[in-house]
Amino acid sequence: MAKKTKKGRITIDRELCKGCHLCIDVCPTHRIEVDESLNKKGYFPARFKENLSEGEKGCTGCSQCATVCPEVAIEVYRAQ
Ligand code: SF4
Ligand code: SF4
Repeated sequence: MAKKTKKGRITIDRELCKGCHLCIDVCPTHRIEVDESLNKKGYFPARFKENLSEGEKGCTGCSQCATVCPEVAIEVYRAQ
């Protein structure tokens, strides 16, 4: 049976985020969603989905979200 390994994860600075949601559109494994609470600037920020549902792929550490973010609010960590 295939073992589920987490290849990457990201952190999003919710106070830097301007809620453009470009990162959500670009993520190939749909690991980012909209937070339901506003940040101090009054935007609904992006949030990393920590938990995997059945059949979902985890973050691959591809960095596309961080590359597209105009506010440089995303940091990507890759598992070794
Ligand atoms: S791309 Fe950056 S600013 Fe835009 S929603 Fe994502 S984290 Fe926020
Ligand atoms: S690093 Fe890639 S897979 Fe991980 S959250 Fe960002 S866009 Fe999605």
